[in-house]
Amino acid sequence: MSAIMNPFEAQQQGRPTGPLVSGYEVIIGFETHAQLSTQSKIFSRASTAFGAEPNTQACPVDLALPGTLPVMNKGAVERAIQFGLAIGSHIAPRSIFARKNYFYPDLPKGYQISQFEIPVVQGGQVEFFLGDEKKNVRLVRAHLEEDAGKSLHEDFVGQTGIDLNRAGTPLLEIVTEPDMRSTAEAVAYAKELHKIVTWIGICDGNMQEGSFRCDANVSVRKPGGELGTRREIKNLNSFKFMQQAIDYEVRWQIEQIEDGHAIQQATVLFNPDTGETRAMRTKEDAADYRYFPDPDLPPLVIADEWVEKVRAEMTELPRVMAARFVAEYGLSEYDANALTQSKAVATYFGTTATTCGHPKLAANWTLGEVSALMNRLEVDIDDPGIPIPTALGELLRRLSIGELNSNTAKIAFAEMCLRLQDGIEDVAAYIDKIIEDKDLKPMNDSSELEKIVDDVLAANPKNVEEFKAGNTKALNALVGQIMKGSKGKANPQQVNDLLRQKLG
Ligand code: ADP
Ligand code: MG
Repeated sequence: MSAIMNPFEAQQQGRPTGPLVSGYEVIIGFETHAQLSTQSKIFSRASTAFGAEPNTQACPVDLALPGTLPVMNKGAVERAIQFGLAIGSHIAPRSIFARKNYFYPDLPKGYQISQFEIPVVQGGQVEFFLGDEKKNVRLVRAHLEEDAGKSLHEDFVGQTGIDLNRAGTPLLEIVTEPDMRSTAEAVAYAKELHKIVTWIGICDGNMQEGSFRCDANVSVRKPGGELGTRREIKNLNSFKFMQQAIDYEVRWQIEQIEDGHAIQQATVLFNPDTGETRAMRTKEDAADYRYFPDPDLPPLVIADEWVEKVRAEMTELPRVMAARFVAEYGLSEYDANALTQSKAVATYFGTTATTCGHPKLAANWTLGEVSALMNRLEVDIDDPGIPIPTALGELLRRLSIGELNSNTAKIAFAEMCLRLQDGIEDVAAYIDKIIEDKDLKPMNDSSELEKIVDDVLAANPKNVEEFKAGNTKALNALVGQIMKGSKGKANPQQVNDLLRQKLG
C-alpha cells in the first residue's frame, strides 16, 4: 500500500454513511464523458456527425499528421462554461491543454489532448432527489479533451477495423468526488447529470451512440474505515447496465474481501450478457501517461466578460425553474421536481398551464393522466400519441369553468388520445367538436337531473333506508348511480345537494 494518503480520503470527512451491504459501506465516484454538441471537432473543422462511413471524417489535424496545428473550437469552450455555470463551479480564467501519452490502435497519433493540472471547470455540485431525500454530489473538475477513434471488432471475420471518425470529437470529462453511497444514488446522480447537460443543450445525451458515457469507480469498506481500493467500471452506456454493473461489482468485492483476498486496483468491463464485470487491465497511474503541456496550444484564457455573456444567454436551469414553480404556482417541491424532469416535460406543462390559466390543474394532469399515458405507450411527452399541450390546456380551461366536470374531462381526454391532432388550428373548435360528438355537455337542465334522481331513489329503497339510518356510504352508492344515469354529465356537487335535500 502506498504511503501517500488517498487525496479523496480527506474529502470524505463529515459525509453521511450510506446503507450497508452485508456490513460494508459502498463508495462510488463517477467520471463521465459527455460529447459536446458542436458541429465540428474540438481542434479541427472536420464534422462530428454520427454514423458517417468509416474514416471519412478524420482530417489531418485529428490524426496529428506532421505540419498540422490544432486550433481551439470556441463552441466547445462555451459549452464547458455553460456546464460550469449550471452547477456552480469556478471557471478557470486560464487553463492548460496537456498531452496524455499512450498507444492504442484507436489513437495512432500516440497522445490525447486533454487538460491535466489546470482544468477549465473546477468544483461545483450536482443536486438531486433520491426518492424524496435530497442529495448532493460534489464535482472535482470538468475538463475539455478530444475523443479517440473506435475499434470495430468484426467477430464474424475475426478482424478488428479502426474508424477514426470519432477522433477529435470534443468531450467534457466530468469527475466527481467519491460521494455516492449506493447504486441507487449513483444512478440518480447519472440521471441528473444527463438531465443537466441535455437541458442546457451542450450534449445530445444519446447513450447508445456513446454521447454520454459513464465510468463508475467502486470500492467498499467497513463503516468508518479508510477508503478501500477501487475498481473502475468503464463505459456504462445505459442506466440499466449501470445499476446491474455496480450491484454486481459491490457483491464481488465484498466476496473477495470476505474470502481474504485484497482488491487490486483495476479497470473492468461490464458484460451485459452475463451480468458480470471482468478486469480488462491493471490500472495505469497518472505518471504512466507522461503528461506534459501541449506545445501546439496556448493556454485557454477566458475573460470575465465572456463568462458573463454566456451566463446572460443561458436558459433557466431545472432547479431554478422548479423553485419558481413552487413560489409562483404553489406546487409542492416534489411535483415541481417531477415537472422539470426534462425540458420537454417542463415545456409541455408550461404551455398547458398558460392555455388553461390554472397551473395547479395543469400540473395534476401532466403528472397524472399524461404521465400514465406516456408509461402505457412507453413514449416521451413529445410523441404524436400524446395530446398536444394547447389542446389539453383548452380541455382543462373548460373543466375550470364548469363546461366539463372531472368525469367528462376524462372522457374527452381519452377521445383526444384517439383523434389525430396534426394541424389543429383552433383548439377551441377541436374541443367543442369532442364535447359535441361525445355528448359531454353538462346537464344544466335541473328537471332532467331531478328525474334521474327520482328514478334512482325509487329503484334503490335499500340504500335510501340505510342512509336514513346513518350510513353515509349508502349516499355515495346513490351518487354513483345518478352519475351513471346522467352518463357522467351531472355535476357531482349538485347531485349531492339535491340528494340531501330530497332525503331530508
Ligand atoms: P483516474 O481514474 O483517472 O486515475 P482519479 O484518481 O482522479 O482519476 O479518480 C477518479 C475517480 O475515482 C473520481 O471520480 C473519484 O471520486 C473516484 N474515487 C477515488 N477514490 C475512490 C475510492 N476509494 N472509491 C471509489 N471511488 C473513488
Ligand atoms: Mg478514471
